[in-house]
Formats: sequence, C-alpha cells, structure tokens
Amino acid sequence: MAAMVVTVHSQDDELLDVLTKTGEKAGVSKPRDGDYHRAVHVWIYSESTRELLLQRRADCKDSWPGLWDISSAGHISAGDSSLLTARRELHEELGIVLPKDAFELIFVFLQECVINDGKYINNEYNDVYLVTTLSPIPQEVFALQESEVSSVKYMFWADYKDHLVNEDNEYVPYEVSGQYGQLFDIIEQRYKDNLEARSLDLQKRLNRYAPIHLDEELNGLSVADKEALTFIIKASIILDEIFYEQVWHGNLVLREWLKEHCSDSDLDKFKWIYYSINKSPWSCLDENKAFLTTADSAIKLLDNSARTVLGWKGIEYRVAFPATKLPGANFYPPDMDKMEFELWKTVLTEDEQKAATGFFSVIRRCGESDLVCTESNKASGSIQHLVLDKPNNSNDLFVVPYSQEYRQSLAEAADLLHRAAESTDCPSLKKLLKTKADAFLSNDYYESDVAWMELDSKLDVTIGPYETYEDAIFGYKATFEVFVGVRDDIATSQVKLFGDQLQVLQENLPLDDIYKSGDVIAAPIRVIKLIYNAGDVKGPQAVAFNLPNDERIVDERGTSMVVLKNISEAKFKHILEPIADICINEEQKKYIDFESFFTHTICHECCHGIGPHTITLPSGQNSTVRLELQELHSALEEAKADIVGLWALKFLINQGLLPRCFLKSMYVSFLAGCFRSVRFGLEEAHGKGQALQFNWLYEREAFILHLDGTFSVDFSKIDVAVEVLSREILTIQARGDKVAAKSLLHRYAKMTGPLSSTIEKLGRVQV
Ligand SMILES: [Zn+2]
Repeated sequence: MAAMVVTVHSQDDELLDVLTKTGEKAGVSKPRDGDYHRAVHVWIYSESTRELLLQRRADCKDSWPGLWDISSAGHISAGDSSLLTARRELHEELGIVLPKDAFELIFVFLQECVINDGKYINNEYNDVYLVTTLSPIPQEVFALQESEVSSVKYMFWADYKDHLVNEDNEYVPYEVSGQYGQLFDIIEQRYKDNLEARSLDLQKRLNRYAPIHLDEELNGLSVADKEALTFIIKASIILDEIFYEQVWHGNLVLREWLKEHCSDSDLDKFKWIYYSINKSPWSCLDENKAFLTTADSAIKLLDNSARTVLGWKGIEYRVAFPATKLPGANFYPPDMDKMEFELWKTVLTEDEQKAATGFFSVIRRCGESDLVCTESNKASGSIQHLVLDKPNNSNDLFVVPYSQEYRQSLAEAADLLHRAAESTDCPSLKKLLKTKADAFLSNDYYESDVAWMELDSKLDVTIGPYETYEDAIFGYKATFEVFVGVRDDIATSQVKLFGDQLQVLQENLPLDDIYKSGDVIAAPIRVIKLIYNAGDVKGPQAVAFNLPNDERIVDERGTSMVVLKNISEAKFKHILEPIADICINEEQKKYIDFESFFTHTICHECCHGIGPHTITLPSGQNSTVRLELQELHSALEEAKADIVGLWALKFLINQGLLPRCFLKSMYVSFLAGCFRSVRFGLEEAHGKGQALQFNWLYEREAFILHLDGTFSVDFSKIDVAVEVLSREILTIQARGDKVAAKSLLHRYAKMTGPLSSTIEKLGRVQV
C-alpha cells in the first residue's frame, strides 16, 4: 500500500502562509525560505504502556535524515487549517486516519534556528497535538510513506526524554528544559496516581456552590398551564442537549461517559457532579481552565481508521479536549482564528456577511467534510485525493444556520412547543410557543421575540437561542437557554416604576445630546419565581436577564426583562450578607439590605435597554455597538448597566420616586457586590465589568480602604465618580470606539492590590 502513495508537493514548491514574527498571518504565501510559518507536530501516546510513538525520518530527507523524531509532523500549506493538516500528515506518513476529536492541541512551540551552515533557516510556529490511545498500535497496522518515514517504534516517554536530555545523536534534538518540556510535564502530571488529592480538589471547588431548591408551588397555575408545562420541560431537555453541543463538539460523548462511570468511585462521583454544574470540562469559576484532562475523557473505538489486522479490534482513543476552553466554543472550527474569519468575510456579499456574523448560525470548514469523503475512498487506496481536492483558500469556511445544524433536535422541540401551545389557555403564551416553534424551523426569530416581549402570562417562559457569552472570539453566536417561572404579580407591579421612567432616564443620561438616540419604548418588567431552567445556565446562577439581544427589536421596542426573585433572595442570603460582613466597614454594615440589592438588580437590567445600541460611526456609516466593540462589548455593556444603574437610582431618588433613605444603602450594597462578581474571575464579562468599576471608583476615592482591610463608601465623592464613569462608557459605546474601550478595560478591568487582597480574604473564609 505504501508504494501507491504519491507525494504531490515536493518541499521546494509547497506554498506556505507567511506569518509575522508574532504568528499572525501576513497575507502572503510563498515557498518555504526562512520566513515565519506554521507547522504541526502530532504525538501518539499509548496510555497502557506509557509510550510515545517515534518515527525514523527517511534517509533522503534534507533535514535530520535517518534520525528518530515526532510521531508525525509537517508544514501547513497555504490556506490550510492546522487540524486538517495534523490529520492529513498522520494519514499520509503513517496510514492512520483519525477524526478531529482525537487531537488535543497541548501547546504552540516557537522554533527559531539555523542549521546546515546557515543554509537551512527555520522560523516555525508548531501546533503540538497529542493523540491518546489506550494501547500501542500494532506495527503491521502502519502504512509508511517511504519518502518520509523509514520505520516507527514505541518508547517509554521518560526514556525518550532521557535521549533528548543526553543529546543522543540518533534523535532529532528538542530542548527539553525549554518549552518543549511541556510535552513530558503534561504526560507525567496527567497519569500520576493522585486520586485522593483530586477528589479533595473537586470537593473544594464544589463547596463554592450552594444548592438552591426550586420548589416553588405551582398553585397559581391553571390546569391547562400545568399541562403545557410538561411539554415545555420536554422541549427544554432537548435544547439542553443542543447547548452541550454548542459548547464543545465532544461534550455529549463526555457527558454520557462521566454519567455512566459516576458510581465507580468518589472521584468519579465528584467529576460527574462538578461537570454537571459547569456543563463542560472547563470550570466557570476558574477562568475556564479544565478540571478534567483528556485522560478522564470518553473512549471511542475506531475499527476502520487504519489497515485491518487479524485479532486487533482497532484503535481505541480518548476524546480529546484542550486544557483551556476554546474561545470560539463549537460555533467555529476549533483551529479558526480571528484573522482567518476576517479575511474570509471580505470575499462575501453583504447578505452572506450578515449570515456569517449573525446570532443563529455556526461556521464550518469545507476541509473537514473533505477528509470524511476521503475516509470512504480509503478502500480504493486513493490517498492523493486528499491533497488534490484541497478546497479553494478563501472559501474554506461556510455558514450553517441553526435550523440546519440542529435540525433533528429543533424539529422535535418545535413539535413539543406546538403541543404546549395547544394546551395553554393563555393567548399570549400560546402565541409565544407557536412562533418560537416556527422559528426553530425557519431560523427567523423576529416574531417569536416580539411575542416574548408581549408575554402576559402567569406561566412565564423564556426559551430559545439568546446570550452570546460563549462566543469569546466575536460575541456573535447565541446559545440555547430556557427559564420557566411563575409570575410574582405583586412584585411585578412594584417594579413597573422603572419601565415608566425609562424614557426620562434616556433623555437625561450623562452623555452628549448628539449621541442620544430617540424614543425608548417602556418595556415590561416581569418578576418571577423560577421553577425550571436548562441550556446556558451553567456555573453561577444569574438573577435576571434582559432580552432580546437582536438590535432590530431593541431599536423598535427596547428590551424586556425577567427578574428571578427567589434566586436573588437566595444569593443575597448565601453570598452578599457574608461578603459584606467581612468586607464592609463596621459603621456602614447597617446599610446592607435585600431591598436595595434587589432594586439595583432590576435597575441594572433596565439600563441595558437605554444608551447607545444602533450607532452612527464618525464615517457616517451605520453600525451597532456590539459589532464595533466585538469581544469587548459584553464586559463594557455589563459595566454600563451597573454604573448607569446607580446613576439612574440617584436620579429617581432626586425626582422623589424612590425614598431618599435608599441612597446610602444602594451604594454600600453595590460596593459589597463588587467583590461578589470579581470572585468569579476576570475572564467573564460581569467580573471584568465589575473590576473596571471598582478600580475606577477606588482611584477616585469614592471607595475607601480602612486599616483593618474593610471598605466604606465616601458619600461625598461617589455621586460625581459614578456620573463621570457613566459618561465615559456611554461615550465609548456611542462612538463605537474599540481603541478607547480597549484602553479603558486594560487600565481598570484587572486584578489590583485592594481587589486581590479582599478576594484572598474571602477565599480564606470560603465565602
Ligand atoms: Zn447585565
């Protein structure tokens, strides 16, 4: 079989994407001649024998001929993706075809060297992948590419490391004391027998969460609504699965695996519980670092990934995931970067661009399906097909609407929502459920969002793709979520005040008049007691949300808000009171109360609805704040809602609409709340936004640090500081000024001394 393989490119004419010194695509491709470029290293590791697979380079190679080296490696051709190259190299050099979920990007290694008396300059960024198999792949399975590889062997990883440390001249050298040592560190760390320590660590992480029971009584609901509820919950379970898939393509497989093994040991139990809270192997409270490794992951068997050998069942491998969550979740190909997307966007029509940057679509790679079709052609031995049929560079990416990507699941969910609509006796709920079901199939959510805003029902339902926090590359793509509750009629009428005042607030915002957009339509505020949630509700539970995010509706109708009062009360009791007890100066502790905490929560959500959304750029072009500020938008928008919320409460107090005694309470509760959000880390939009506000107000002495480590509010300075920061953020948004946003966040949204010492203090008493 090996003899049939044709090398289409020789090394001399292969075009590579030239990179800048810092690894960005420079926009040109040339044959390799010392420019910075990118390559892949693929290591195959066998768990049961703790061995790495090594290949012996062919004697005809122009670099390191005849030496032992990485399992498989190669350059990334111009326009190609990293992951596809890794899969292709493994196929071409060793005759092994593996799916993308077998490849774990463990680190990127920058190699800058000159060899062969200066004739061979190598400036290479190497994406280093690890493939973890359960046992060694038998020798007779490999189909070696003679022009590249003369043989392969397995070797205990520590022995291989010793060869490198001793600079054995039969091995291609890698500096093990430097960056490349990570390969061995990762393997060693991962397979240490430290079950007890890991159990304890997971228990400690789990203890940061307080379980809340959502046993609100359903007495207020009609019999018809109770029947509708059962269908809605069935639909929600389907959307929950879609959310898992949106986070990471291997997530559902991992979920099944962990669930299946959860009663094997204490450690397995904690793995499963903590995974269920985070809905992924990455910990929300730890800057999205993995709390599991690929060694904990699901095992898949591939019986057709290589030559068949009698008595061998095929390759069993671990479904791999990276140590840090992929910024693009599963909305984009895992190896796509921002630059690739932006370059691709330039060749699209305006409509196509809209689809690509829209809420309800994913971006996929043609190259991936290309390899799939090659796998089926493998029997005929036509391996060169892989190289010849390479997709055209700029067209490698394409858009898939949610209605297609999740077609089967959405069709089932739509069916259940139609049945719920038939059950309920509330006309506005009926309309919401019907239009949402239609939207799942048509991918047009406009009408269902309008129906959601007009919902006037005892059974309150929010269901569909909404928040964009999971898309950390651009903030374009929406995750599926579900919130179902029973409306609190008394509280709902109490908070109507804010809705009625939104227009006045908008007109009086601390922002130059030229930036103020026109009418705000007072949107309804619904206070509910949550009874069920699903989808994007991992990690710490939010107390309110403001939707939709679609600017078409925000412009026409503003937004609508749902506040979860029972969650808010639980948070206040479990979190804010204990924090205030530690962080707030004795004489100001008396100001902490649930009423002001809850009011600011509502005000925060209202303020998402005012201020700039659709904007006119200095060039005269129309755009939106979200599109201009991209990945910085979420953090800045959260900070805006908080700080403008404080400004607005003060404004309403001055108007006599809220009691004056309320003023001090609201500032002190806000101060305590700063520490609450920042504990969640600065990766997340709310934490980042809160750090920005805290540091800004602290720098202006509106917050004072006392000798005993507690804080208080300087009531003579806070009003002005709040107004100035509100103006700063609103103006940046109105101008769509990403540079200014970046510098503001860079300067203030960080862990400073007073913040980190307080967080540390809270950590010691486990609040
Ligand atoms: Zn918010």
